[in-house]
Amino acid sequence: MKRQCHVCGQKNGSCNRYILKNGQDITICPSCLAFSGDETAKIARQAVKPKKSELMYSVIGDALAADYENLDLYDTTEEALKEAKDFLKAGDIVTVLEMAESDWQPYICIDSLLEEFQDQAFSEGGEASEPWCDFVTGKAMTAAVDELEDELNDVLQRWLDKYQVEAGWYKETGKTCSYSFDGTDFIRL
Ligand SMILES: [Zn+2]
Repeated sequence: MKRQCHVCGQKNGSCNRYILKNGQDITICPSCLAFSGDETAKIARQAVKPKKSELMYSVIGDALAADYENLDLYDTTEEALKEAKDFLKAGDIVTVLEMAESDWQPYICIDSLLEEFQDQAFSEGGEASEPWCDFVTGKAMTAAVDELEDELNDVLQRWLDKYQVEAGWYKETGKTCSYSFDGTDFIRL
C-alpha cells in the first residue's frame, strides 16, 4: 500500500505527509508539491518551503583542487566561496549549490507488514494458517487494513516528532549560481 497524494489522487511511494501549522494533514507527492496550482498544494508549498536560515551552501567545480572537500556545507554563499578560494586559480569557474535539509521520513508500509505477519502465521501454524492469511489479505478487509496503516503511521509520526528523529542530511534544492574567480574575487556569472 502506498500513500495517496491528496492533490492528484495517485498512489506514490514518495508521497510525503505534512502536518501544517493549522493542524491540516496533507499527503502530497513531490510533483504536486513542486508544480500543482491546486490550493492545497500551494498551502503545502508555502508551509514546507525551507526557511532562509535552514538553507546551506556548497561549492562544486571541476577546477577545484582534488583535496577540496566537495559538498561541505556553509551558512552563506560568501563563506562557501571563501573556503574554496585556496583551491582555485584565476579564471576558474565554480558553482554554488543551495542545499536544504531533507524532509524525508520513514513510512510503515502495510503490505510489507502483512507479509511479515503471514510468515509469522506460517511458522506457527504451517498450512493451517492459510485461512487466516486469506482473511487478512482478502477484499473484505481492505478498508480495515487501510485503517491499520493510517493508525500505525500516526503512531510513527508522533514517535518521530517526540524524539525529533529527522533525516538530518542535505540535498540540493536545484537552485545554483556560478562564479568565475579572478584570483582575488568572485564574479557572478
Ligand atoms: Zn500528486
